Amino acid sequence: MSGKSNFQNLPDEKGFFGEYGGSFIPPQLQEIMDDITESYMKIKEDPSFLAELDELYRDYVGRPSPLYFAKNLSAKLGGAKIYLKREDLNHTGAHKINHCLGEALLAKRMGKKKLIAETGAGQHGVALATAAVTVGLECDIYMGEVDIEKEHPNVVRMGILGAKVVPVSHGRKTLKEAVDAAFEAYLTDPVNQFYAIGSVVGPHPFPMMVRDFQSIVGREAKGQFNEKTGTLPDYIVAAVGGGSNAMGIFTAFLEDESVNLVGVEPSGLSFKDGEHAATLTKGKPGMIHGFKCYLLQDENGEPQEVYSVASGLDYPGVGPQHSYLKDIGRVEYDTVSDAEAIDAFFEISRTEGIIPAIESAHAVAQAIKMAPKLSSDKTILINLSGRGDKDIDFVVKKYGAKYGLGNTL
Ligand SMILES: *Cc1c(COP(=O)(O)O)cnc(C)c1O
Repeated sequence: MSGKSNFQNLPDEKGFFGEYGGSFIPPQLQEIMDDITESYMKIKEDPSFLAELDELYRDYVGRPSPLYFAKNLSAKLGGAKIYLKREDLNHTGAHKINHCLGEALLAKRMGKKKLIAETGAGQHGVALATAAVTVGLECDIYMGEVDIEKEHPNVVRMGILGAKVVPVSHGRKTLKEAVDAAFEAYLTDPVNQFYAIGSVVGPHPFPMMVRDFQSIVGREAKGQFNEKTGTLPDYIVAAVGGGSNAMGIFTAFLEDESVNLVGVEPSGLSFKDGEHAATLTKGKPGMIHGFKCYLLQDENGEPQEVYSVASGLDYPGVGPQHSYLKDIGRVEYDTVSDAEAIDAFFEISRTEGIIPAIESAHAVAQAIKMAPKLSSDKTILINLSGRGDKDIDFVVKKYGAKYGLGNTL
């Protein structure tokens, strides 16, 4: 986490990436955030903290996650060669354990008693409940009722892990409402509780901290890719909800100008209001949950209702660093629809034997669109952010018929 280049100096001391980010919260909460920032800035240089985190990454999560050449999919598409960074193989099945362990260890060292958080797909909830057990903290998880139904296996996992799942029943009953509810609960006792934000969003220092904890993904991938090919990838593709897995893999490559970085947002059912969550593509700068970013908003500046088939991608805001990287043109943001993501879900399952999370399937779909237009000496590295076990019942019930599974299950 050292280095003095322009990108690595961001955010500034107040948590801004250009005009985005910052911290727009009530004064009493600002004190708590300042305290977290101060503890984090100390701890991230502390050898005993880093050694403890490294050991957990290696022996508990199973890092480094492999880098896999997807030879069957590459051959079938007949263009650029496709590689996968296998975050789906992490303990708990996704990249989120990387920042949850970092946040849990920090909370423990700060003397906090309980971790609280929201969850969309349930992946952050499971990862945090897991980290809470390892580190020895209580854990409350807020989850929209719609997501509870859709992501049932993850709800069961959290229960088994001893976390309390609190259902949220207002509004669209999904991720945004869960964030509101968790934030309210946090405000009742910010001294003993630690709000472990699930992505590179929220007030400073969370976009920076979560990015730093995730940046292991890109550092590993860079070394592994070089070992396999002797060079850098031409394209790196990652799905963007809040943006943590994308920042995780992009960060190590921001200064490598030859590497094209592509973030993939969900265009859902259509670009009509309420039918997508393509924040950077269709949003405008605004304010949500204590920070400034691109935002899907109504005429009053309030967050719009959003939708994606992937519960982990349906958030009306996005990480402030992504907002900045879009404006300066360092990262290109594109969109993939529900239908394209589901196609990709089956395509990679049936060519590579890898069932991806629906979120990750958005990145796979983007690569499937790009690869045939590129020559075979080009490479695309996909961040396969998670595995699809959590999604299989939902996908087969809703889409199975189209893929030959209609009457068999
Ligand atoms: C949560 C989740 C995402 C989206 O979150 P980001 O912060 O944008 O990475 C993507 N993939 C998987 C598997 C997830 O669980």
